[in-house]
Amino acid sequence: MKITDILVKRVSFERKKVFKIAFSVSKYVEGVYVKIVTDEGIYGLGEAMPFAPVTGETIETVMAVLSLLKERLLGEDPCNLEKIHAIMDAQIKGNTAAKAAIDFACYDILGKAAGMPVYKLLGGFKNSIVTDITVGIDTPENMANDAKEKAERGFNILKIKCGADFVSDCKAVEKIRKAVGENVELRIDVNQGYSVSQAVNVFEKMKSFGVTEAEQPVKASDISGLSYLRKKTSMPIMADESVHSPEDAALLCKNDACDFINIKLMKSGGIYPALKINAIAQSYGIPCIVGCMSESRLGISAGAALACAKANIHDCDLDSFMSFKESEGGISGGFEINKNVIKVLDKPGFGFDEYEF
Ligand code: MG
Repeated sequence: MKITDILVKRVSFERKKVFKIAFSVSKYVEGVYVKIVTDEGIYGLGEAMPFAPVTGETIETVMAVLSLLKERLLGEDPCNLEKIHAIMDAQIKGNTAAKAAIDFACYDILGKAAGMPVYKLLGGFKNSIVTDITVGIDTPENMANDAKEKAERGFNILKIKCGADFVSDCKAVEKIRKAVGENVELRIDVNQGYSVSQAVNVFEKMKSFGVTEAEQPVKASDISGLSYLRKKTSMPIMADESVHSPEDAALLCKNDACDFINIKLMKSGGIYPALKINAIAQSYGIPCIVGCMSESRLGISAGAALACAKANIHDCDLDSFMSFKESEGGISGGFEINKNVIKVLDKPGFGFDEYEF
């Protein structure tokens, strides 16, 4: 099979409300859909959702990189994922969201060619997984109301964004705990917002509210800070911005710098490199989750396939598409969602319905 064309299309989505985290505020998100066409009539779909503060990419760079990669990938067999990634990495360093879009489309084709769903090709450990849902930064009162509404919709794991102001963070989590009761798991995501000493103090308070883990409390590059927090506090630490590549995962694992890793396909450059991150983490006894940037249903389907495929991935943070006004983003299929449970489809590839590109 040969790649005969790679089509790209800019897409944008409006959030139901402004979304604030420690280092960004957004109401609209923009991504790029990719369609890889082959000489056998099979096509695959992918999505790039760049997030400049984390992957260093914008829509414009994704468009430019995809056109550069297209030149090198035409004529290649999309099923040869190792080779596809070697070609992409030889062509340009980083640019992981652009590479993820190509990777997803190749996996979609691989699944269709094999007549199998991608989650089964990747391991098929389970076909459904619980997702958390995120509570963005707002006033403590508004965050508590948002959390209560989400818990009432059936979400029993809430990821609370923190890191803009640690005093307000503690007030918000205290109010959220009161609003949702004891049976909802609360995790915090600091998005690199604390110093090490702030984290030590805040964790103590957060523990008293029953918070079960803290994601990326300090700067992405501060591996020794993460190791220190693991030794000095009892708060389990999830690494997110610190881990983009398999090499990053190995460095953190070797340095006892995290209890969990948040794999995001936009950081890793797609499923193929993400499999290596998960394998490294698993060999150190470190479970992973699969998270997301602001992908629509298309990109989330790839995350769901990976999350379901692996025994080392227990739950996920694949909620971005739910915050869009038009949550389907023009694409249907890929997975079903019932309250907080995402179920992948037993259809070839990612199982998207026919989509007019
Ligand atoms: Mg995070």
